[in-house]
Amino acid sequence: MKINFFKVPMALCITGLLSAGIFCSCEKQNATKDSVKDSGSQAVSESAVAENAAAPAAEKQTDATKTITLSDGSSITWIQDNMGEKLNPRDLFSDASDSLYNSLNLPNGIPASVSTYLLNADGEYVLFDAGLGAFGGQMLAHLNELGVNPDDVKKVYLTHLHVDHINGLVSKTDAGFEKVFKNADVYVGQVEKDAWMNMEKNDLQKAILGVYNDKLKLFAFGDTLPHNVIALDAVGHTPGHTVFQKGEMLVIGDLMHGYALQIDHPEINSNYDMDKAKSIESRKKILAYAKEHNLTMAGMHLPPPGFVK
Ligand SMILES: [Zn+2]
Ligand SMILES: [Zn+2]
Repeated sequence: MKINFFKVPMALCITGLLSAGIFCSCEKQNATKDSVKDSGSQAVSESAVAENAAAPAAEKQTDATKTITLSDGSSITWIQDNMGEKLNPRDLFSDASDSLYNSLNLPNGIPASVSTYLLNADGEYVLFDAGLGAFGGQMLAHLNELGVNPDDVKKVYLTHLHVDHINGLVSKTDAGFEKVFKNADVYVGQVEKDAWMNMEKNDLQKAILGVYNDKLKLFAFGDTLPHNVIALDAVGHTPGHTVFQKGEMLVIGDLMHGYALQIDHPEINSNYDMDKAKSIESRKKILAYAKEHNLTMAGMHLPPPGFVK
């Protein structure tokens, strides 16, 4: 797949995102590509994780989780973070005509979710995005049901920096924000981080990334992250929006907010998509890539059970 860098427009903090309570963040920090290298220095605790992982998460499934085992023996578990049913409303898709929307026969909205995904690879837990956190997130309860302690999550790979993907990284105490994943490195795209740094309303992002300042790892599109997870350019939804490929699994982040509508109409954006033209281009490109390579897609706003092919 051809990987392109995306030059970041500076005025992408659009009013729709602000009114939706989605703020942005930034903080000056430089890092090299070396920073994405795995340290491999925690043999003792990793072996403890491996023991835990010996009891497959699949055997502990709940209504809000589903585990798929990949061909290399690793597994990825969908974790529904929102409580109950989530329907994304028709007015989130202003691009869609009434006739197109009505043809879906979904008058109450398009089935969706807020989700995170847990990779169990090489005896280590890696989280893709961290969900809503204090804004109603259920992820920690589901991790507990799966027998996974947050301290055993060693890495978090972020698709982008919207709040519904990062607020679960922190808990709030009297002293301020604290890490939820005390032992985790947090991976964020250099392009994404730099872009949010230049936005105006970024207090929450800045605070959350600041909590993990000593654990931030910045990656570029095309980089291979630990456990053979490849970061791919899917810009448009945000300036550095990233999808991750792990073998036959593609974690597509916020490529789609209304699967039932957008799978056949990738030219329809959601109103959360910051760069409309780039979003359409990325949606078409990534969906074609998934189809060409017969990949299963995991997406943070796909309807339950969180995987589509
Ligand atoms: Zn988003
Ligand atoms: Zn989102």
